[in-house]
Amino acid sequence: MGVRLGSEAALFNCPNRLRKSLNRNSFTADSTKHKPLSKIMSTAIHALAASGAKQPLKPFQFDPGPLGSEQAEIAVESCGICHSDLSMLDNDWGMTKYPFVPGHEIVGKIVALGEHTKRLKIGDRVGLGWYSASCGECEQCLSGNQNLCLKAEATIIGRHGGFATRVRAQWTWVSPLPAKIDAGKAGPLLCGGITVFNPIVQCGIKPTDSVAVIGIGGLGHMALKFLRAWGCDVTAFTTSDSKRDEALRLGAHRTLNSRNADELAKAAGSFDFILNTTNADLDWNTYIAALKPKGRLHTVGAVPSPMAMIAFPMILGQKSLSASPLGSPATTDTMLAFSARHGIAPTTETFPMSRANDALEHLRSGNARYRVVLTNDLA
Ligand code: NAP
Ligand code: ZN
Repeated sequence: MGVRLGSEAALFNCPNRLRKSLNRNSFTADSTKHKPLSKIMSTAIHALAASGAKQPLKPFQFDPGPLGSEQAEIAVESCGICHSDLSMLDNDWGMTKYPFVPGHEIVGKIVALGEHTKRLKIGDRVGLGWYSASCGECEQCLSGNQNLCLKAEATIIGRHGGFATRVRAQWTWVSPLPAKIDAGKAGPLLCGGITVFNPIVQCGIKPTDSVAVIGIGGLGHMALKFLRAWGCDVTAFTTSDSKRDEALRLGAHRTLNSRNADELAKAAGSFDFILNTTNADLDWNTYIAALKPKGRLHTVGAVPSPMAMIAFPMILGQKSLSASPLGSPATTDTMLAFSARHGIAPTTETFPMSRANDALEHLRSGNARYRVVLTNDLA
């Protein structure tokens, strides 16, 4: 998955100290005031897990141990499937530990709270994405950039994710869902949605900007919706002819075939901002050429190989390449409020969670339109 995410893997692989600190002070007599008695004793979590790379998911039970004092426990109602779940299942990034329980686009209800949790109450409907904890004391956490915390923990790295009856996370990463959000469709907002909303905020995208999105999959289709509502002129780059008309309905003003060199060449000098959501090795210099002077190519897609750029067009046009992970908890709240205000919801297909293997194959085949959500039927 490339050097950047590879080095993140090393960081993600050492969350044990943080996890221990979260689990310390598990329960005291006083701490019971936050949670129903039935939930205080840890009961087994029923999940779906793979025993090795590219193996099918099978029923799996584990005891989560005592709830950490800063942790919230969520009864999972539904969970979206992100391409990162597939990459982790296949161990594409070399950091998967088995048994592996995927799922980091979680919607559910709070069923237990540790004694040092804030903001949440039992019964709240909430969402949880890629991140599950951050240290709370580093420069990044203290400046509101908890998503850049070097000790941040991921929901499916070194812990079990949302293809399960219940899941736990530090309260800071558990986002209350606004009432206007359709809970059945909201899961994908918590990873795919915030991942494409975050660059709009971080890169200062203006409503007057001409922007393009490469790849109209789970992330890309939500990017079209957000950027259209933000006020931008929006172009969709897709390899799939069948998505061209659909992309217009999702929010694009026009579509271009990213495998058609002539169409790409005609777009030279067109865009202030191009967002790559693919996990593919593309001809990046063509996309640099498609930028206006001072334009920016930004990737959220986990491009497998080094992204080779020719320096001169970037120097002469003062162009840049950048990347970002999901947003902070505050940016996630902003994204949820923006979605509620503009009626933005992911376009989803639903499978029962017990058919997660079929759903994963559906995503792998490239046929998902546009995000698969699993409805929890595990008992
Ligand atoms: P997805 O639903 O599979 O969509 C990816 C899209 O990329 C496809 O629908 C396709 O769109 C396009 N594509 C696929 N193969 C291609 C190729 N060979 N050439 C050109 N285009 C190709 O995946 P996703 O869930 O949106 O995730 C996309 C990427 O973002 C993954 O790498 C995932 O791991 C990563 N991700 C990163 C973050 C982060 O923190 N930065 C968060 C979440 C996900 P068209 O059919 O329109 O061409
Ligand atoms: Zn994801």
